[in-house]
Amino acid sequence: MKIPFVDLKAQYNSIKNEVDAAIQSVIDETAFIGGKRIQSFEESFAEAQSVKHCIAVANGTDAIYIALKMLGIGRGDEVITVANSWISTSETISQTGAKPVFVDINEYSNIDAEAIDAAITPNTKVIMPVHLYGQPADVDKIRSLCLEKNIFMVEDCAQAHIAELGNQKVGNFGVAGTFSFYPGKNLGAYGDAGAVVTNDDSLAAEMKLFARHGAAKKHNHLIEGINSRMDGIQAAVLSVKLRKLHEWTRARREVAAQYVKLLGDITEIDLPHVANDRTHVYHLFVIRTERRDELREYLGTRGIQTGVHYPTALPFLPAYAYLNHTPADFPRAHEFQERILSLPIFPEMSGRQIEYVAEKIHDFFA
Ligand SMILES: *Cc1c(COP(=O)(O)O)cnc(C)c1O
Repeated sequence: MKIPFVDLKAQYNSIKNEVDAAIQSVIDETAFIGGKRIQSFEESFAEAQSVKHCIAVANGTDAIYIALKMLGIGRGDEVITVANSWISTSETISQTGAKPVFVDINEYSNIDAEAIDAAITPNTKVIMPVHLYGQPADVDKIRSLCLEKNIFMVEDCAQAHIAELGNQKVGNFGVAGTFSFYPGKNLGAYGDAGAVVTNDDSLAAEMKLFARHGAAKKHNHLIEGINSRMDGIQAAVLSVKLRKLHEWTRARREVAAQYVKLLGDITEIDLPHVANDRTHVYHLFVIRTERRDELREYLGTRGIQTGVHYPTALPFLPAYAYLNHTPADFPRAHEFQERILSLPIFPEMSGRQIEYVAEKIHDFFA
């Protein structure tokens, strides 16, 4: 049996007619850039996230950059973020001219809220937690800290569409939330796409202006901006897929529950820890074991594709060598990077496929 890490083809097959028709209609109308599909997707996604404004942009990395820029972040500022994430989270901080300041993770692989205080300086302007793997970070606690210290919070929601903490959707805790619709994400386009959401009217207007060359009206550039648009084909595909997001998210949670049931008796592995009062939307199902590399190899030779998210925590990447960090600065992120393994997970995964993966993991440890 061959088990891919994600199966985008299986998903396409399940919605082929609707997606093909949606793409064809964009071509028929040559509505490649702008237009009603963009606006309609923005409205539907804002509704799905229970947030007031959504601005569709070119990708999830731009979404972060746009939010930080429109909060006035730049040279001399510091932005606190988490040691384990995808590089978009930190490279966008540097792109604004600010300095990324990393904080270690907790047992849930999210930013350790208790450790943030020690990283705050008079230059700290933003705290940017990431809802990693699909599990909401402690954004309620971080919000209180931000209010107390007069700091903004921007949530990187790229892996956590419609995830909730205490019945509130991610993206609503901070001043802005950023999303990626990279094809493999829980809501994925057929190319690059992203969005930034906010409940703040003026920030929404500024972010939209900046992402559209600084022009609210054609040729009337109020400021210099950037070109970050979601194209018509992506908006059309995403609008079709958004209607399935709740169903697909339930399916992901069901796959995770099956894994937990089938792998719970293996003492050599740690299953994902889920904190109280939140819904994990399982963009990734990440286990930990001291024999990670061996297990990965074993599963690979038996047709099971796995991933590591991420093999090197951000502070230890060559890109951040200039910060001179050592493993002792982020002991948990360092420990986890050697042990984490992402198992295949996608909404269309069958019971038989889940059982096969679990069986092979049992065989490995037997
Ligand atoms: C995917 C991702 C991004 C960036 O998304 P792109 O759309 O690929 O630019 C940002 N942050 C995290 C945590 C991600 O997983």
